[in-house]
Amino acid sequence: MDIRLDGKTALVTGGARGIGRAVTLGLAKAGANVLACYRSESAAAEELAHELKGIPGEHRLIRADVSDADAVGRLVEECRTAFGHLDVIVNNAGAISHIPFAELGRDEWQRILDTNLTGAFDVTQQALPLLRSGSSLVFVGSKVAMVGLPLRAHYTASKAALVGFARTLCKELGPRGIRVNVVAPGIIDTTDLPPDRAAQYERIISLGRLGRPEEIAAVVAFLASDLASYITGETINVDGGT
Ligand code: NDP
Repeated sequence: MDIRLDGKTALVTGGARGIGRAVTLGLAKAGANVLACYRSESAAAEELAHELKGIPGEHRLIRADVSDADAVGRLVEECRTAFGHLDVIVNNAGAISHIPFAELGRDEWQRILDTNLTGAFDVTQQALPLLRSGSSLVFVGSKVAMVGLPLRAHYTASKAALVGFARTLCKELGPRGIRVNVVAPGIIDTTDLPPDRAAQYERIISLGRLGRPEEIAAVVAFLASDLASYITGETINVDGGT
């Protein structure tokens, strides 16, 4: 059974690289019209724009920092002008750093929460009027949110908060026919990890390898589709069995 999203419109945050890039391309190839945003100009953003031009449908890539509420306002306005409504929102944009808790400054705590949590809040709340019955919201969380990991107190707190956020939204928005889910990736191969670090991770993963961005995108596409019409409030770990 193919996942098809023909006629649907989607917003993906943090689409230029890594998981967001795979999600953007996956949704577009499944037939959705996709508007993706990124934070800073880069070769990756240019490459994605070029690749999207080769996929049928109306796709846009724009610069918007989700930690800036005004920028989110402009992003949502772009969606309204381009599509009139949204069927899918993938809150993927995320920031991380590795700092011992004792040295974690309030500014850095705030920076991570501003992107990972408040960004998702702003995007979702401002886009709410564009959603209609049958819409699907997906938050990209993290498996480590429920496991914990040294040096990531701010990151894990922000990702764990998304789970509670999604649980409440599923109850508030369910009566409008809007579904809300979290996809929680394990360790995904989005950066050039040193071989010794990759080998270390592979030893703790049941499937013996890091995940691929496309393996997250596949689950996001499923949740975005009508095949998942009775799934809401869930957190789906996609972690190769860690
Ligand atoms: P990358 O760092 O590879 O890409 C992040 C993307 O998000 C980039 O396109 C970046 O834009 C964008 N972005 C970052 N901050 C902002 C912002 N403030 N506003 C708009 N866009 C922003 O990340 P990954 O693909 O690795 O991660 C994607 C998501 O998956 C994140 O939420 C992350 O926490 C989560 N995750 C990742 C895991 C992994 O192993 N990779 C594991 C578990 C969860 P730009 O290109 O302009 O910098």
